[in-house]
Amino acid sequence: MSFKPPGQCPACGEWVPRGAVACNDCGACAKSGWKGHADVYDGLDLPDDDFDYDEYIAEEFGQGKRSARQSRELLWRWVAAILLAVMIVGYLMSAR
Ligand SMILES: [Zn+2]
Repeated sequence: MSFKPPGQCPACGEWVPRGAVACNDCGACAKSGWKGHADVYDGLDLPDDDFDYDEYIAEEFGQGKRSARQSRELLWRWVAAILLAVMIVGYLMSAR
């Protein structure tokens, strides 16, 4: 978005004064693309406002539709978790 103060904040509609680098009301700034404070952390892959926990669970645990790529990622996540568990158990056994 190419919003430039002064003008109404595209995120919340609050008036943003000339020269302001961020909206005083919601914290939206040019860096976040004037999309609102929550989206400042977009790059970190955090869930957004319409995050649906049930849908997330369904996707993670198999009831939901899932692409082949997602299935593979889930598989590798399990492999990594199991390997880690084996290493921890092995370490505990040898430490005894
Ligand atoms: Zn705002």
